[in-house]
Amino acid sequence: MANSSLAYIIRLALALSLVLAACDAEAYIGPGSGISFLQGLWVALVGVMWSIVAIIRLPFKLLIRAFGGKKAALVLVGLGFLVWFINEYKPQADADTASGGRTIVLGFDGMDPQLARRWMNEGLMPNFTRLAEGGGFQTLATTNPAQSPVAWSSFATGTGPGEHGIFDFLRRSTDSYVPDFSISEVKPTKYTVDLFGLRIPTDGGEIINRRIGEPFWMTAEKMGLNAVVLRVPVTYPPDPVHHMLSGMGVPDLLGSQGTYSIFTTEHLDKTDNRRIQRVIPDQKGLIETTLTGPDDPLAEGKPLVQPFLIEPAPRGVLVSINGKRFELKQGQWSDWVGVNFDILGPLHTSGMVRFLLLQNYPVLKLYVSPIHIDPYDPAVPISSPPEYAAELADKIGLYHTIGMPEETWSLNENQISDEAYLEVIRTTLAEREAMWYTALEAHDAALAVAVFVQTDRVSHMFYRGLDKEHPLYRQTGEKARGAVQWIYQEADRVLGETLKRMDQEDRLIVLSDHGFAPFRKAVHLNRWLAQAGYLVFKPGEQGTDALFGGVDWAQTKAYALGLNGIFINQQGREPKGSVSVPETKALKAKIVEQLVNVTDPETGDSLVRQVFDRSDIYPGLANAEAPDLVIGYEKNYRASWQTTLGGTPQKLLEDNYQKWSGDHCIDPSLVPGVLFTSFPLSHEVDNIRDIPELILNLLETRAGG
Ligand SMILES: [Zn+2]
Repeated sequence: MANSSLAYIIRLALALSLVLAACDAEAYIGPGSGISFLQGLWVALVGVMWSIVAIIRLPFKLLIRAFGGKKAALVLVGLGFLVWFINEYKPQADADTASGGRTIVLGFDGMDPQLARRWMNEGLMPNFTRLAEGGGFQTLATTNPAQSPVAWSSFATGTGPGEHGIFDFLRRSTDSYVPDFSISEVKPTKYTVDLFGLRIPTDGGEIINRRIGEPFWMTAEKMGLNAVVLRVPVTYPPDPVHHMLSGMGVPDLLGSQGTYSIFTTEHLDKTDNRRIQRVIPDQKGLIETTLTGPDDPLAEGKPLVQPFLIEPAPRGVLVSINGKRFELKQGQWSDWVGVNFDILGPLHTSGMVRFLLLQNYPVLKLYVSPIHIDPYDPAVPISSPPEYAAELADKIGLYHTIGMPEETWSLNENQISDEAYLEVIRTTLAEREAMWYTALEAHDAALAVAVFVQTDRVSHMFYRGLDKEHPLYRQTGEKARGAVQWIYQEADRVLGETLKRMDQEDRLIVLSDHGFAPFRKAVHLNRWLAQAGYLVFKPGEQGTDALFGGVDWAQTKAYALGLNGIFINQQGREPKGSVSVPETKALKAKIVEQLVNVTDPETGDSLVRQVFDRSDIYPGLANAEAPDLVIGYEKNYRASWQTTLGGTPQKLLEDNYQKWSGDHCIDPSLVPGVLFTSFPLSHEVDNIRDIPELILNLLETRAGG
């Protein structure tokens, strides 16, 4: 016993001293990188105290050296008074605005010009109508491809994908054919030391926003203006502006983009979903289980867990977790519940989840949301300055923090109901509104930017209720059929509330990153490449649902990955490249020629409207990650989910029986976005990438006037 306690203390002291020696106590490290969790409160406190002592000691030492003891003390007192005086009488930080008004930018992801016009004409969007009449309304061309991370990056930087480097949600890893998340990257710790059975990281790892270029809010700050930027996609990790809360790109505590868990008493035949777990109740129905957290940074391959209990209750279930106990009715979401993953001694990492009782006993099904970063104890940086996330929570309560919290995937896999999904939408919308109105009412920034993504998420999941030709239209209930119109009316209400909080001199820009189209049939593009002889399988192999299973790379000339890309299997670039650089041009031309002639055997419609060559749309580009060809699908078609992940199912086309029923990852000319302004524009704005110029002009006029 004494021996094991001693060993424990030695291990703990060793771990802490190594961490303290190696890490900047204020540095954050990404989840999944294996070390973030070492910044337990205690570690941070000791580190900060240590730095403070060092900082205080340094000038004192220098003074003593320069003046000797007594004089140094007098100089110190004098300096102390000076610091107090400056603090007391310094001019207050320039608020928004004494002159010229603010520039306010409000984004509604995926707002479609045709749908907006339709509901404006029907009198359902009176605030948009008023804005259009008083200022301007036009369609706004989107990026190629028409994907949110790509378009919002162009919005931020004023450049195209060739320059900002975001080409798709997914990218090809340069050293393999495995798809990877394209928006942010966690570079894991490089060095670890194995001691006393522990795996101790000795450097910090790194989180990188893969978007290149200067966003306009940084330019504004350089002009001496304060910017507040809320939940704009591709802002993770946050930029160092006056106030920022990161949006799409923020991971969950596992380092993924949103991994949920389900606990069920049902027998599971076979599932590749490791997060669906069978649990066995005792005679009284009591279930003891654990929620799996991130990997233990001190022990390779072992996850951290949070134990919890489920038991029957009169009207549902009782859940006991981390010192909390609450009752849930069927179909009901819980409030936020803190979860805590102990690592060693005071070292821990924490997050927060919401529970949803999908099905009550006897066949229990309990859903647990992805583990969100806690704004009060963030394991990774989600705001600028870091304490802003907690300040917001003080004002508006706890809120969803991961980049894409809308549970679209759980709905697409039919794990949750339409109603449970819409409840999440209502919650996230209310959170974003509260943040936005708080920021506008603070009047401390000349530039205020927020993006509401709920318009996009509802359109993706409920287009089946708008599109009478959609395979799921008949099965879609009355309420679900009205969901897209409802979210547009909600957007109108948010606009109205924004207008109420504006001053006479403020100027407003409202925009979307792209529009929407039906998604009726999924195209297995790798199957087409295989049929045309460009993608070749090893003898006896037919293709798998993901990750290019069975592909004979030596024979393969081209492959599809991501939502819009085809890559040539190029020598010297791909790990097992088979096509020489000089052959590439002719090969691309041949694929383009064939692909635009492919038709749907059922309807005779073309699947592809245009195929773009990267040398035409991304001129001068040396980025190996850009697809060689970008596919502009026709309306109603889109790359299948399997295609995005390098899968090759048997058929070329498949009816889309999934709830993800609307999309925009098609020919960009078919899905432009919207632009509304509260002031008349001297000329039309060509493209979303021209928005920063418009904004900076407004800010310069203000700074000059
Ligand atoms: Zn979308």
